[in-house]
Amino acid sequence: MLKMEAIETRYGPAQALFGVDLEVRAGQMVALMGRNGMGKTTTIRSLFGLTPAHAGSILFEGHDLRRLPPQRIARLGLGLVPEGRRCFPNLTVRENLLVAARPGEWTLARAEELFPRLGERDRQSAATLSGGEQQMLAIGRALMTNPRLLVLDEATEGLAPVIRQEIWHAIRRLKAQGQAILIVDKTLSELLPMADHCVLLEKGRSAWSGAPEALTESLRDRYLGV
Ligand code: ATP
Repeated sequence: MLKMEAIETRYGPAQALFGVDLEVRAGQMVALMGRNGMGKTTTIRSLFGLTPAHAGSILFEGHDLRRLPPQRIARLGLGLVPEGRRCFPNLTVRENLLVAARPGEWTLARAEELFPRLGERDRQSAATLSGGEQQMLAIGRALMTNPRLLVLDEATEGLAPVIRQEIWHAIRRLKAQGQAILIVDKTLSELLPMADHCVLLEKGRSAWSGAPEALTESLRDRYLGV
């Protein structure tokens, strides 16, 4: 459904991506990995047109995304859970979910069933949620757009262990329901058993890609070690 080829992106004069290739097929979970600063977030920003790529191609279900502005890209069925979440703090949990809603299978009830904590805090303003609850809300909001591809940047970073478990549980359920997912996260113990495919970035390039079982100790040391 998604094919990014030879993507190059810069921030002003500073080039951050020098050739990223990435493919997600229907129903797949693809893990985008690499050490800090290797280009994971920039790859996602390029996909959504937030920091447009200056070279390469991005095809999503037949659409050439490089020609489109971010709002159009989102409407084609790409849902983003950005790093740092960004819910509307002055809106309630319910309002945050409802403003994102677009026609489809996802309803307020389904989002609150996936994350029961959101149901319990339905009328609370988003600003009063814990970081983990805000992350659940950010995922819920992205789902309310009925995305064909859900993209999560740092799905569980910096969250309390109990909440991380709840989020992984929800992601497992989404995957079991056939939701296509592109995910960045550093928790390999959760990510690798679930992922269908891994892409390792190094210095703004996709340096290796393959099945999680093929990700040997030496590859991990080389591309993910600190
Ligand atoms: P992290 O896990 O630390 O978020 P990352 O793999 O997501 O890392 P990016 O954030 O995509 O990496 O960064 C890739 C490169 O682009 C880095 O060299 C970074 O310094 C640079 N970069 C990122 N954001 C900007 C920006 N707004 N302006 C200039 N350079 C940037």
